Amino acid sequence: MESRMPGTLSVGQFFGIPLRFHFTFVLLFAFLITISLAGAQSWVGNTIFIAAIFASVFVHEMGHALVSRRYGIRTLEIVMFPIGGIARLEKNPGIREEFWIAIAGPAVNFVIAAGLFAYLAGTGQWQSISKMAEATDFNMLQRIAVGNLVLGLFNLLPALPMDGGRILRSLLARYRPEAEATQLAARIGTGMAVLMGLAGLVTFNIFLLFIAFFVYLGASQERAMSIGKSAMQGMPARSAMITEFQTLNHGDTLRDAAAALLASTQQDFPIVLGNRVIGLLGRARLLRALAQDGPDAYISAHMDRDFVRIDPETDLAEAMPRVAAAGSAALIMKGDELLGMLTMENLTEFILLRQMGLRPEPRAS
Ligand SMILES: [Zn+2]
Repeated sequence: MESRMPGTLSVGQFFGIPLRFHFTFVLLFAFLITISLAGAQSWVGNTIFIAAIFASVFVHEMGHALVSRRYGIRTLEIVMFPIGGIARLEKNPGIREEFWIAIAGPAVNFVIAAGLFAYLAGTGQWQSISKMAEATDFNMLQRIAVGNLVLGLFNLLPALPMDGGRILRSLLARYRPEAEATQLAARIGTGMAVLMGLAGLVTFNIFLLFIAFFVYLGASQERAMSIGKSAMQGMPARSAMITEFQTLNHGDTLRDAAAALLASTQQDFPIVLGNRVIGLLGRARLLRALAQDGPDAYISAHMDRDFVRIDPETDLAEAMPRVAAAGSAALIMKGDELLGMLTMENLTEFILLRQMGLRPEPRAS
């Protein structure tokens, strides 16, 4: 599985979880500091404030990550984007676990806000919220407290893919099937995104427009994925597999493999030795090998011996994430016998056909 998002810069590890900055995040940070040079407050003060808010986003993500760990789900990395952070989990949590994982992030921000507000009240520095939110050098703690309050509340908006949307889905799933809960929460998400977009237009708030756009995108994606998942649930992997394909022999050269690649639309080739499957050669790997060793090298030196194998009776909804993570075809194998291949393209076709009311069954070959 790809354990690192491309276009990111590693910063370090916290509790064993890598923290990475997406390059657009670094740009935003530089941009925010640059525009603050013209503002009323000092750039040092502003830089500290911006860094503190980003640190608050980071601990919010750590909240998600540490609760996930309690459920035995590893966090691959925390990536900071301009619109916030993302804790990338190794797998999707169950619908009940999701409630606690989702609520942990905003809870962290509320705890920070409450702690700071208590300190401020105790030391006689309490003011009205609008006064505390003013951008000056002399109310740093007040602004960080208000910032965390806003972060917590904002993430609780009941719009998938935000935390509030996940909490909503988890609650809905207690009374209806999971797919229906996801689709309803996603529909509320797209609705809220449209409202946010309109509000952004009316108030000329670019930031709000930006967020509305991402929420809309995320909600549509969650919805499409859920529709796909319910089309696949209860169907065995063999019902969607490719049954007509070519294999390569252990003794073939990269030249033979290149010829096979050109001859059809097939991109991944199982490699056999006698009756046994010993590896898989995908297009990207083949091209890399050609560039490295030339056409006369043997495919056996370049094949992937760790290919993904899936039992023909495995539920498709369970097989799909494994195919997606493989980045190439997965082989459908009953013991040592190769029955077929499964690719993302052909899973997509399967979903489309199912939506048109067909119940695709593989042709006997
Ligand atoms: Zn969150």
